[in-house]
Amino acid sequence: MANSPYTLPSLPYGLADLAPAYSEELLELHYSKHHQAYVNGANATLQKLADARADNAYEHINGLQKNLAFHLSGHVLHSLFWQSMTAQGGGEPSAVLQAQIKADFGSVDDLRNQVAAAAKGLQGSGWVCLSWDGLSEKLIVQQIQDHQSNAAHGAQSILALDMWEHAYYLQYQNAKAKWIEAYWDLADWAGAEDRLKLLKG
Ligand code: MN
Repeated sequence: MANSPYTLPSLPYGLADLAPAYSEELLELHYSKHHQAYVNGANATLQKLADARADNAYEHINGLQKNLAFHLSGHVLHSLFWQSMTAQGGGEPSAVLQAQIKADFGSVDDLRNQVAAAAKGLQGSGWVCLSWDGLSEKLIVQQIQDHQSNAAHGAQSILALDMWEHAYYLQYQNAKAKWIEAYWDLADWAGAEDRLKLLKG
């Protein structure tokens, strides 16, 4: 297909490497089925938009624009989600990231509390991200609905927590708080710090 610019990225670890905090079965399903579906959806939507332009046929333009935002944001967030976890994760952020978190949230625990509140408070499917807002030069927490709504333009996420049921239900059922705790044990603070440094320049 002419318009297939999006591809499923390789995982930075093996499918079994995040167990027991994140089981092999759940990781395999989430990555190879759910994430792949957003990649396919984004590519298919680009093709449909190209077809619409070629035919000057825009009767479905609103749906196509909505699908593009949904699938592409889903692809981007899942790509960051895999990078947000590591088997060697957890603990406390290292110096640069820790200093930024303390400046913008008070303490790492204050950040964790806000993230947990936003995650448990989500109405429906969504994400909670730690994001760098270059305009204020501050880290902010974003509570994102679905993949694409309730997000501030311009803020770049450095850590993503997937709160869609497909992200945890197979292993954690309705125990959202346990999934959030497990996520902190996997959190790749070093990777988040690398991303922050790139954004701060
Ligand atoms: Mn997901």
